[in-house]
Amino acid sequence: MTLRLSLANPAQNEELPRVQPWRGLIHGYRRYLPVTDQTPVITLHEGNTPLIPVPAIAREIGRQVQVFVKYDGLNPTGSFKDRGMTMAISKAKEAGAEAVICASTGNTSAAAAAYARRGGMRAFVLIPDGYVALGKLAQALLYGAEVLAIKGNFDRALEIVREMSQNYPVTLVNSVNPYRLEGQKTAAFEVVDVLGDAPDWLCIPVGNAGNISAYWMGFNQYHQEGRSSKLPKMMGFQAAGSAPLVTGEPFKHPETLATAIRIGNPANWHKAIAVRDASQSSFNAVTDEEILHAYRMLASQEGIFCEPASAASVAGLLKVKDQVPEGATVVCVLTGNGLKDPDSAIKFSENNFKQGIEPGLEEVAKAMGF
Ligand SMILES: *Cc1c(COP(=O)(O)O)cnc(C)c1O
Repeated sequence: MTLRLSLANPAQNEELPRVQPWRGLIHGYRRYLPVTDQTPVITLHEGNTPLIPVPAIAREIGRQVQVFVKYDGLNPTGSFKDRGMTMAISKAKEAGAEAVICASTGNTSAAAAAYARRGGMRAFVLIPDGYVALGKLAQALLYGAEVLAIKGNFDRALEIVREMSQNYPVTLVNSVNPYRLEGQKTAAFEVVDVLGDAPDWLCIPVGNAGNISAYWMGFNQYHQEGRSSKLPKMMGFQAAGSAPLVTGEPFKHPETLATAIRIGNPANWHKAIAVRDASQSSFNAVTDEEILHAYRMLASQEGIFCEPASAASVAGLLKVKDQVPEGATVVCVLTGNGLKDPDSAIKFSENNFKQGIEPGLEEVAKAMGF
């Protein structure tokens, strides 16, 4: 009797959460994407990343403002680039491509390599020599990309791959490839699906401005379908040393420790300006110091480890916090995982790392301050 009850208690079974298997964003958002039954879906089950409340950051702003981070560093290769790459690589495969090429500050090359190799294609990546974070280079190499480091910056690398793709049998998978933005717009869908409406503000780091353009597409598409009641203000943030969309002029020598947004001449310049104007927002610059402050704060007070470029969204929010309306809902996009750039984490942690301690109880207790 007791045995039967414990084995088949219907009330207990109903309480078990039913986990829907997530099979990647092409599967999850198929009806919003330019795919057909003929499209071979090359996926690592990217997307469906968490929207996490960040109360310590919300406290800094006060006035009942709610702040969340969209932690896209939890995608399979550790950045939001996977969203665009599952689409771009699937469509390249559908078109019969045998090789893809991209210029990259690191994350695009990691994602292109992983998806291209999974799809049985070659991946050529051009990177600026000496300006790619260690984790990203490690990924591109192990995933099996053919990595070419050039003595020039990202902007020059992009010019070269654009021409290469016109003259050789290689498909360009930078964010000028329209399928990239189609995939990336799904992050906006996920935000609305979780919040039940669009946020009032979206804060986002801006490099080539593909991602801000993609989010705007996604928010608009959902809004037109009646899935949200409003559109957010699109608050884009650039590093002060490479802020062409803030100053209105390309930067010949972009500089910032946030290497993922070290871009002087954004590929999606006009799209970005159109987004800013349509959402009645503004673009602002944050200094490397402000980026590092947000980077450390996210890790040490919220438990969230992102890469420096990602922290620009939170640094920007803190910078313009007086402009946030009372009670507003704000989402900051964290574009990449902190493990991408271990050198920056160690260099900028400002933590007191005690080394060379004798392996004895007393010595350890003393070092602990007891
Ligand atoms: C690519 C990237 C960005 C910039 O995105 P854009 O679409 O180029 O504006 C920001 N942060 C990280 C971590 C990235 O990899």
